[in-house]
Amino acid sequence: MRESKIHTPCYIVQERALKENLEQLAGLARETGCRILLAQKAFSMFRVYPLIGNYLAGTTASGLYEARLGAECMGKENHIFSPAYREEEMGEILSLCGHVVLNSPQQIRRYKRKILAAGRSVGLRVNPECSTQEGHAIYDPCAPGSRLGTTLSQLERALADTPDLLEGIEGLHFHTLCEQDADALAVTLDAVVEKFGVYMTKMKWVNLGGGHHITRPGYHMETLKQCIRRVQKLCGGTVYLEPGEAVALQAGTLRTSVLEITENGVQTAILDASAACHMPDVLEMPYRPPLSGAGLPGEKPFTYRLAGPTCLAGDVIGDYSFDRPLETGDVLEFQDMAIYSMVKNNTFNGMALPDIVLEREDGSRELVRRFGYEDFKGRLS
Ligand SMILES: *Cc1c(COP(=O)(O)O)cnc(C)c1O
Repeated sequence: MRESKIHTPCYIVQERALKENLEQLAGLARETGCRILLAQKAFSMFRVYPLIGNYLAGTTASGLYEARLGAECMGKENHIFSPAYREEEMGEILSLCGHVVLNSPQQIRRYKRKILAAGRSVGLRVNPECSTQEGHAIYDPCAPGSRLGTTLSQLERALADTPDLLEGIEGLHFHTLCEQDADALAVTLDAVVEKFGVYMTKMKWVNLGGGHHITRPGYHMETLKQCIRRVQKLCGGTVYLEPGEAVALQAGTLRTSVLEITENGVQTAILDASAACHMPDVLEMPYRPPLSGAGLPGEKPFTYRLAGPTCLAGDVIGDYSFDRPLETGDVLEFQDMAIYSMVKNNTFNGMALPDIVLEREDGSRELVRRFGYEDFKGRLS
C-alpha cells in the first residue's frame, strides 16, 4: 500500500512497536513464570492475534463475544470475567473458556456447579477496597459502592450462610488499577493479602488483573516482579496478569485530514476524525492525545482547536499549536491510538469508521479493513 493510497481517517498499527511491547511482556513471563493474557477489551485487532499469541499465554474476555473472538483468533488460554453472566450464555462460555471468574457469592451459588461439571476452573473476583488512583472514579473498581468484586465483609457474611461456598473455587482475581505503576500494585497487594490472604493460600491461581502500565518507559519492573513472587510464594500456584493497554501501548496512530478552518474568536480546524466517534476516551477519560509535530497552545506560533466533523458541540480533541498555519488537506497524526479506540468506535452522526492499516516491520503497509455504509446500516434497523 503506497502512502498516497492511505485514506483518512485511519488507524495505523505498527507491528514493530507491538512486538517490542510483547517482547517485554514475554520476558517478564519467562523470568517470573507468570502467565500473561491479552485483555481484549482494550485492543481486539484480531488480525494480529497470531502474532500476540506467539508471546502471550492467551486472552481474557469481558463477555461472550470477546471470549469467542479469543478462541477463534488466538486459540490459547481463554479466561472470562463478568459482573453477572446471562444464564443462556453460560453453556457457550463453557465451551470457549477454561477459566471463568465470578463476581459475587450469588454468582457462585448460581453457576459454580455448572462450571465445575464442565471441567472448567472457577475463580472469584475480590474487592480489596484499596483505592490507589485519584480523579478517575469511573475507572476505580474500589470506589465506594462499587459492584466489581466481593468485599471481605460480603464474603464473610456469605460464608456464614454457606460454609462450603469456596469449595471448588480455584482462583482469586483482583483488578483495581488503571494506567498505574507497580508501586500501586504493591500497595494493593498488601490490602489483598491482609484481607484475603487466608483464602489465597488455598488457591491454584491468582489473577492480578490489568491496569499495569508495564511497557511504559520507566515502569518499575522490579517491583512488579517482587509482587509476582510474593503471590507465588503465598499460593504456590500460577500468577496471571491481564494487561490490555500495556500490550498495544504506543503501537498505533490515528491519521486524519484537515477539512476546513473556521474562526470564531478561536481558530478551529475541523478534521475528518471525531473525538466522539473515533477516540471516545479523549472525552470520557478525559485526556489530550499527543499529536506529532504539535505543541501546547501558544507554544508554537499558530494555535488551533482541533475538532471533529459531527454536530456535537463538545466534539473537540483539544487545542494545539503548529509551526505554520494549517490548511485544508493537511494530515495530522494522533499518537497512542491503538488502545481503547477501535474497540469503542461508533457511527454517531453516520460517521464512517476509520480504515485499519497494519504497518509491518519492513515498513510496508497493508489495508486490513475498510468500513462502509453497510457497517453503519448493519447496526440499525
Ligand atoms: C479493563 C480490564 C483489564 C485491562 O485493563 P488495562 O487497563 O487495559 O490494562 C483487565 N482485567 C479486567 C477485569 C478489566 O476490567
